[in-house]
Amino acid sequence: MILKMIKAKYPIGKFKEIETPFYYYDLDVLNKTLSEISRNIANLPFEVHYALKANVNPEILRIIKDAGMGADCVSGGELQAAFDAGFPSEKIVFAGVGKADWEINLGLDNNIFCFNVESIPELEVIDELASKKGKIAKVALRINPNVSANTHHYITTGLNENKFGINLSELDKVIRLVKTLQNIQLIGIHFHIGSQITDISPYKDLCAKVNELEDYFVQNGIKLENINVGGGLGVDYEHPNHFPLPDFESYFKVFRDNLKLREGQILHFELGRSIVAQCGSLISRVLYVKEGTSKKFVILDAGFTDLIRPALYQAYHRIENLTSEDAEQEYDVVGPICESSDVFSKGYSMNGTKRGDLIAFRTAGAYGEIMASQYNLRKLPKAYTSDDLGEV
Ligand SMILES: *Cc1c(COP(=O)(O)O)cnc(C)c1O
Repeated sequence: MILKMIKAKYPIGKFKEIETPFYYYDLDVLNKTLSEISRNIANLPFEVHYALKANVNPEILRIIKDAGMGADCVSGGELQAAFDAGFPSEKIVFAGVGKADWEINLGLDNNIFCFNVESIPELEVIDELASKKGKIAKVALRINPNVSANTHHYITTGLNENKFGINLSELDKVIRLVKTLQNIQLIGIHFHIGSQITDISPYKDLCAKVNELEDYFVQNGIKLENINVGGGLGVDYEHPNHFPLPDFESYFKVFRDNLKLREGQILHFELGRSIVAQCGSLISRVLYVKEGTSKKFVILDAGFTDLIRPALYQAYHRIENLTSEDAEQEYDVVGPICESSDVFSKGYSMNGTKRGDLIAFRTAGAYGEIMASQYNLRKLPKAYTSDDLGEV
């Protein structure tokens, strides 16, 4: 596929006045993404919960909440952020392999919709804590379906060897246990097979597994009201300008066509990256262009403390020089942090670059700002939205 090179539209005049690095969120892109999701699930028994771990910028949370989505949380901090943003409790789900007692209590006190339970000991602890409060905890079993997501091994989660979920071989035991626990109400089953999944076929495999498992539950006399297939839909990191919206149509269609929902069942999704990735950029300034013996380095004021995905997963982000139209050259684009892994890209082709140029890392709205650290005692960058900075 050969695509014409285009650049994103940014309020560059405003950018020049702002201290770098900073995150920039284009709310128009976010709103279009949310409309596309709403359009695809309209009139279906489908509910989308936004996975807060991708980004908890308060303005972003408000917009997603206003679009009618629920929240998917993986910590007490995220539960609190969801409550603060006004997500209704009955639309909040709580996952994670290591829920601490205070986190479970926070969920119980606020009557969240569902705990996605990942192990037998967790089930017992939730039952005990709920009993102390005289409450019934609603739970879904997170089942490890042993489906491969064909993605980076750090972000695949649905294989037996991963730490997540209850393995199929344990299911009989879990069901027997659930029936004895007085303060647990089993309301569904939950899956999450990985992240940045761009090939739709693992979702087809997941549907087949879910159908099989549903038969199994029916045989065991259990009616499940909720099926939760998690998140993981990928985005186009290579071509954010040509494909700013993920292919939600194909994604939801796979479940429509392949998953056999029973009478009254609701199908839940937990999308993170696909909702917020494309609306965000990390904007940085060039500090120096250094001539090495065989290559040129662009040294930025942003480092892996501000966007860790390249260092952590060898992830690709499109990099644009916003202030140069000069002929393209190849650069190693690096940050200022005292670690050899602080490299965004090697041999990256970019418009001729000089000190002071503004650089955009595209598709940085998910797992960008939220993973920022203060290593080297750096300042956490600020975030601005298109509403803050006005029209382009
Ligand atoms: C991370 C996570 C998600 C969201 O994943 P994305 O790839 O960002 O869509 C959903 N559910 C659970 C349980 C998760 O851990």
